[in-house]
Amino acid sequence: MKTILLGVSLMSALILSGCQTADTAAESSATSSNTSESQSSSTEESSTSEESSEAQSSIESMEEPADTQEAFRYHINPTTSVVEPIDEAVDPKVALLTFDDSPDQHAVEIAEQLKAINAPAIFFVNGMYIESDEGKAKLKQIYDMGFEIGNHTQTHPNLSTISPEKQREEILQTNQLIYEVTGEKPHFFRAPHGVTTETSDAVMAEEGMVSMNWTYGYDWEADYQTSESLSDIMLNTEYLNNGANLLMHDRSWTNEAVVSIAEGLIEKGFTLVDPNLIESPEREE
Ligand SMILES: [Zn+2]
Repeated sequence: MKTILLGVSLMSALILSGCQTADTAAESSATSSNTSESQSSSTEESSTSEESSEAQSSIESMEEPADTQEAFRYHINPTTSVVEPIDEAVDPKVALLTFDDSPDQHAVEIAEQLKAINAPAIFFVNGMYIESDEGKAKLKQIYDMGFEIGNHTQTHPNLSTISPEKQREEILQTNQLIYEVTGEKPHFFRAPHGVTTETSDAVMAEEGMVSMNWTYGYDWEADYQTSESLSDIMLNTEYLNNGANLLMHDRSWTNEAVVSIAEGLIEKGFTLVDPNLIESPEREE
């Protein structure tokens, strides 16, 4: 019940602006078919308070013991995209690192830096980046370092603007390309611009995948395109709360800021959550 109440209180504070490339930053904020609240901008005031849950949390090592890898300990709140503990015994003070629009120019280097400090993350891949041998090699490198690979569609369309058939193709083609490289189909999906549809929800159910948006991100905004400004806002935003689902991209300034962001989260007492611990439907690969 506590987690449900927390989710409700967070709903009004969530940032769901678009997963946008720099050249489309003027695009309007995202909407999602499974959320009815109006979307707020990153500068809007937040009413979120997590004092009660933070009082119970403690600083832990970011590394999960190997023998717990099999059991899910968190799930993605389908409305808020917050990473929530499955039961009260699980530490709620976690943050999830995610990198969209990968693997383009910087994802491998981002992954290498995170690997060096044992920080887990999800790289959400666009199929268009892994059609070439070079792109496939980048994805293989990231996967072989142990990172979770998610699906971010083939060509990054707003799914609500294309036919159901085309939406399916956008998701399934990328699943297939990822499978050809990694031998594993993605467990997680992130819709471009955060816009899910009835069709994408249906494909999630059919494919045994979990769709997630994010709780905050800044690296597509003009004010946060230096490593210093990005690191500062990612660590000091009022939206950094338990279960924060951090949206970042394959960008040069994000690449430069990623270690200070990850280490800063750990210094603040957050465990960087291992995506293997996040619930997804069981299925045969
Ligand atoms: Zn994107």
